[in-house]
Amino acid sequence: MDFSLLPKQIEAVFRENSLLAKSILSQIYQITPLAMQKLKRERIKIMNFCGSHEWTTTHYGLRYMIPKEIELIPGPGCPVCVTPSSDIENIIKLAMEGFRIYTFGDVFKLPTVKHYKKDEVGSLAVAKSMNADVQIVYSFIDAVDDAKHNKKPSIFMGIGFETTAPSYAILFERNKVPENLLFYSSLRLTAPAAEYAIKLHKDKGSIPISGVIAPGHVSTIIGAMSWDFLPKEYKIPAVVTGFEPMDVIASILKILQMIYTENISYTELEYKRVATREGNKYAQNAINKVFVVTDAIWRGIGLIPKSGLALQEKYSKYDAKEQLGIKDVPWDYDLPPNCKCAEVTLGMAYPTDCPMFMKACTPAKPWGPCMVSMEGACSVWARFGSVQKVLNIMDEVR
Ligand code: SF4
Repeated sequence: MDFSLLPKQIEAVFRENSLLAKSILSQIYQITPLAMQKLKRERIKIMNFCGSHEWTTTHYGLRYMIPKEIELIPGPGCPVCVTPSSDIENIIKLAMEGFRIYTFGDVFKLPTVKHYKKDEVGSLAVAKSMNADVQIVYSFIDAVDDAKHNKKPSIFMGIGFETTAPSYAILFERNKVPENLLFYSSLRLTAPAAEYAIKLHKDKGSIPISGVIAPGHVSTIIGAMSWDFLPKEYKIPAVVTGFEPMDVIASILKILQMIYTENISYTELEYKRVATREGNKYAQNAINKVFVVTDAIWRGIGLIPKSGLALQEKYSKYDAKEQLGIKDVPWDYDLPPNCKCAEVTLGMAYPTDCPMFMKACTPAKPWGPCMVSMEGACSVWARFGSVQKVLNIMDEVR
């Protein structure tokens, strides 16, 4: 793409900040060939770890604005996409057996591989349609309040990353959770998954990942320094980034500058208005007091060591798996046929590489887990990828 053809798109996206955006993009175009020379590669692969960065990138058509030699790939930063099918299957079974289930809205439509009672119940939405007591809540506090009043045996489906974990931990720590409310932990930790993806790209012999746009929200809790293993151990630039389109292009420029200058020693913090290098100590302490790090299964991917959180023994009376005798089973491939979610979440494929994309799998009727949440790459591409298509058509007819 010739940068001079872009002013209208830049003005549409960046409006009053378009002069700054033009300056950043112009620098990106200048430094890209130099960074490519430094890496001795024909393309530079940068991972959007977080689903919200994928949203910003796709929604604003940023892939179209940057040089085509920069490949922005999606990453595993979508908790709904990576929650194992077996967890949802367990929760559906408990719902059908009479427990009140509290869940976030985006888990509601998450499809499972194995269905309760043969082909009948393959999501919590279907369970609810068959009179199971499934309640959508905005937060753990809502579930705690409701369970206190209704006294019914209840279970909270606790999914999320480090951003969500403190909101659970603080209520346990302060003894606010009623005894009729059990907690089913599907909490996951982000850094081990990033490391897994980096190694996979290297091991598979594809172009290695040369930069990571690190998650902004997660880093408000764990701190930018939690990503220092990328520059220190792997010599990969990492930039903790906010969610405005300007944040994303500024981070791409920073990554290219780090590659070119070979100044890759610690994580850069572009999201200074919210995150710090150390993170939120109060939230970190709460997590450490209530949860313990465990090996955990990521949907479609399998077991990633030390990538999950479970309740500590002290809180075992709230632990749904412990109290209801739910055993962890060895991981079995848990995506529906033809679904490429594992490749998509690891940045090995784009949603459009999947034969089901916008055919058998749509946001209204998701076939695989990446089509469910607003952080899922397939869902984002389904909703906003058309912007890219329109721009491509404009490019062709120009
Ligand atoms: S389009 Fe649907 S089936 Fe294909 S990878 Fe995405 S979620 Fe899976």
